[in-house]
Amino acid sequence: MESILPREEIIFRSKLPDIEIQNDRPLHTYCFEHLLDFADRPCIIDGATGEVHTYADVHLAASRVSAGLHRLGVGQGHVIMILLRNSPEYVLAFLGVSFRGAVATTANPFYTADEIHKQAAASGARLIITESAHVHKVRAFAAERGITIVCVDDPPEGCHHFSELLQSYEGDLPDVEIHPDDVVALPYSSGTTGLPKGVMLTHRGLITSVAQQMDGDNPNLYYHKEDVILCVLPLFHIYSLNSLLLCALRVGAALLIMRKFEVVAMLELVQRFRVTIAPFVPPIVVEITKSPLMDSYDLSSIRMLVSGAAPMGKDLEDKLRAKIPNAKFGQGYGMTEVGVLSMNLAFAKEPFKTKSGACGTVVRNAEMKIVDPETGASLGRKQPGEICIRGAQIMKGYLNDPEATKNTIDKEGWLHSGDIGYVDDDDEIFIVDRLKELIKYKGFQVAPAELEAMLITYPNIIDAAVVPSCSMKDELAGEVPVAFVVRKAGSEITEDEIKQCISKQVVYYKRIKKVFFTEAIPKAPTGKILRKVLRAKLAAI
Ligand code: AMP
Repeated sequence: MESILPREEIIFRSKLPDIEIQNDRPLHTYCFEHLLDFADRPCIIDGATGEVHTYADVHLAASRVSAGLHRLGVGQGHVIMILLRNSPEYVLAFLGVSFRGAVATTANPFYTADEIHKQAAASGARLIITESAHVHKVRAFAAERGITIVCVDDPPEGCHHFSELLQSYEGDLPDVEIHPDDVVALPYSSGTTGLPKGVMLTHRGLITSVAQQMDGDNPNLYYHKEDVILCVLPLFHIYSLNSLLLCALRVGAALLIMRKFEVVAMLELVQRFRVTIAPFVPPIVVEITKSPLMDSYDLSSIRMLVSGAAPMGKDLEDKLRAKIPNAKFGQGYGMTEVGVLSMNLAFAKEPFKTKSGACGTVVRNAEMKIVDPETGASLGRKQPGEICIRGAQIMKGYLNDPEATKNTIDKEGWLHSGDIGYVDDDDEIFIVDRLKELIKYKGFQVAPAELEAMLITYPNIIDAAVVPSCSMKDELAGEVPVAFVVRKAGSEITEDEIKQCISKQVVYYKRIKKVFFTEAIPKAPTGKILRKVLRAKLAAI
C-alpha cells in the first residue's frame, strides 16, 4: 500500500552558491547588457571569409533586422523559421527575432521538404529565412500558406534578400513590450516519447540557463571576453544556440563560425584565430583524435575542450585529453527542454575533482533529483534512476500539447529527463542509460515515433517499431535506427524497399539502417511498444 506520508526527497544542488539572476527582461537586453565594455571587440568571425564583425556591428544589425522583419509584416509573437547553416546571418536572424518580440523556430536546413513542412505548419511559421539551395523544398507550402521567404544569398524570384532586412530603419522601429515569459525560441524535440514537439523556451528561461553557466562571482567558471569560441556545432541545436552563441554574447567572447565540420579546415581555423574554447560532440572527437593531421597544427591556444549532446565514453575522453594535454576537458549534459542540466566545474577557481566519463555537477539555481522510474521514490547517491530537474530555466511546455507537457513536467515542477543516471560521492553525474525512446545519431535527434508513423502508412506493413542499435552502430554515429516490421500476409516487401521509401522522406541521419521482419511487435496491454524487449532482442543478434 502506498504510504500517505510525504516522500522524503533527496535533492542535489550545485557545489557553487546560487546567484541572483535578473531574468525579468528580454533575452537580447540581457545578452548585450555589458555591450559598452566590448563594443569594438570581435563578436562574430566568419570562418568562411575571415571577416570579423564587432559587437557594435552585430548589435546594430540585429536591431535593423528586427525593423526589417516588422516591414515584412512580422509582429510580436509571430513565428519565424530559421532554416540556415551556421553563418553570421544566423546570429543576426535569431537576435533580430528576439528584438522584435517574435519567436524563432530553428530547423535543420538539410531536412526534407516533408520534415520542414511539418515543423513550419505545426509552429505556424509566417516567414522562413533560408539559403537559395533550400528554397525548392519550401516554395510549394510557403505559397499555399502565405509564408514569406527570405534568402541570405541570391534570392530566387519571389523571395526577399536578407540585405533588405539590414537597411537603416529610420521611423520603422517597431514598438515592442516583451514579457519575460514570452516565448523566444521554439526548437523541436521528441522529448521522452512520441513525435517532435515545439519546445517553448522563454526569455526568462534562456536567460536563466545562460546565467547558470556564465554569471556570478566566478569569472573563471566558463568563458570570458578574450575567448575565441569555435562554433562548428549547428546553431539550430540547443547546445550551440545556448551554450555557444548566447553564452558568448553575454561575456563578450568572439564566436568563430564554421558552416560545416571538416577536419583540416577546422584545425586551420583553430590555429589561425587562436581558438581558446573548443566545444565538440563525441563523433567530432572520434574523427579528430583519429586524424594524423592533428599533430601538424598548433592547437596550444585551446584552454578548454567541451563535449555534450550525446554520451562520451571514458576511452574517447582520455584519448582527447592526451591529444591536447594543456587544455581542460569537461562534459556537459543538456537537453532542448532544459538547456544545460549539468556541467563540469574543472574550470572553476577552486580545483574541484573531475572524473572521466562524468557529466559534471548540476548547474546553479537549480534542483536535481534521481527517481526510481517504477516507484517514483527519490534515490540517494550511487543509485541509478531517472534524472529530474527543476528551476526557472526549464521550458514553458510543448506548443499546443498540454498532455505531453503534463507528462514531462509534473505538478511539483520537476522536469523528467528520460535519462537514467546517478550522482556519486563527489556530486558528479554519470549517465548510464536512456529510459526515453529517443535515438541519438551523432548527437542529432531521431524520434522512433516519426519513423514508425511512416512505416505503418506503407500498404504492406501492418505494424512496426524503431529502436536504437548500439551494436550495429558505426563508431561515429553513436546509435543508429533499426526497424522491426510486421508484413501483411502474403506481402513480399523487402528490406531495401522499406529503407528506400523512408530515405526519401527524411534527413540522412534518420535513415533506417536495418530492417528485421517479425511476427508481432511486443506491446504492453496499454498498446505501448515494449522497446526494452526489442533492444534486448537486438543485443542478442
Ligand atoms: P537534445 O534535446 O537533442 O539535446 O537531446 C537531449 C538528450 O541527449 C539527453 O536527454 C540525453 O539523452 C542526451 N545527452 C545530452 N548530453 C549528454 C551527455 N553528456 N551524455 C549522455 N547523454 C547526453
